[in-house]
Amino acid sequence: MSAATTGLPPYDAGNIFARILRGEIPCKRVHETPHALAFHDINPQAPVHVLVIPKGPYVSLADFSANASDAEIGGFWRAVGQVARDLGLESRGYRVLSNMGPEGGQEVPHFHVHLFGGRRLGRMVPAAP
Ligand code: 5GP
Repeated sequence: MSAATTGLPPYDAGNIFARILRGEIPCKRVHETPHALAFHDINPQAPVHVLVIPKGPYVSLADFSANASDAEIGGFWRAVGQVARDLGLESRGYRVLSNMGPEGGQEVPHFHVHLFGGRRLGRMVPAAP
């Protein structure tokens, strides 16, 4: 299903976020609901750098938006907003970013969004090399 929807390889149940969801690898948890898990990025790129992932096996936004249930999609995005509020990011501002596929720079093939905050974040996309 994933491959047909996205053109990306099918979901790999051995990816690092799947292992975090199964409790095989620890994470610094920020928030958890039936449909989402938020945790600190292991290599933070800003003073606040949190990842939010759906609990289901989705490779990308195309896969998630096409194949997840309304409850999963609603639950996930509500969790993203809740985490931003809980971390106090709303008043100062922050960035939500999601990398997709090779040109998007996605390293972990489990759909996720990054929340960055805690400092002025600069340009949205760096100039091409
Ligand atoms: P991507 O490039 O796929 O959008 O982002 C993957 C993110 O996952 C990277 O920012 C990377 O630092 C983070 N990451 C990779 N492995 C781990 C891990 O084992 N634990 C945590 N907390 N983050 C990880």
